[in-house]
Amino acid sequence: MPVCIACGEWGSGPLCLACRRRLVPGRSGVIGGVALRYAFHHSATGRMLVHRLKYHGLSAAADILSVAMARLVPPEASVLVPVPRATVRRVTYGVDPAKELARRIGRILDIPVVGALAPPLWWPRHAGRTLTQRSAPSFARRRSPVGSALLVDDVVTSGATLRGAAAALDEQVFGAISATSPGILVSSRAPIASRRLRDSTAPRHRRVETRP
Ligand SMILES: [Zn+2]
Repeated sequence: MPVCIACGEWGSGPLCLACRRRLVPGRSGVIGGVALRYAFHHSATGRMLVHRLKYHGLSAAADILSVAMARLVPPEASVLVPVPRATVRRVTYGVDPAKELARRIGRILDIPVVGALAPPLWWPRHAGRTLTQRSAPSFARRRSPVGSALLVDDVVTSGATLRGAAAALDEQVFGAISATSPGILVSSRAPIASRRLRDSTAPRHRRVETRP
């Protein structure tokens, strides 16, 4: 009998019934000035799956997350651009989660994946830091994605990383998808297909969950 990818218990795999029940569906909204859709709330099973991919390099976790994320890709997306992990963390953990996810989503939907962004060597983790401490990391543009680029990330928290990635690609980014997020900072019903919103003046101190 296979083990559950999330909790590690023996069961009917790849996810046991208890873990399937603890998958909280994601929502959409605008974060860091980018229209975002995320597959699952960053808690319980969603959080566990991301951790299995991020820190244990478990490809089965990427398989589950990418299937859910593929459903969020709008038809307008012509190119997927993964948000690369900081070089130091990629070397430490031996995996670049967003790249793994984008590769699988690209295969499912037959959309090209372009490694258009080069990461900084390192930037501070955003979890647990205050909003004012969250500055956007500076990505370098390796090449220009041809067409409407959709950013792909594993977790979006403050949106600072997305903001940095979108700034490097500028107008070619029209939205983003992620595996999980703890929530959206600025409420929006805007469809993801709308161009990147310039809402840097929007209040960031309020954590507002959007409707599904
Ligand atoms: Zn389980």
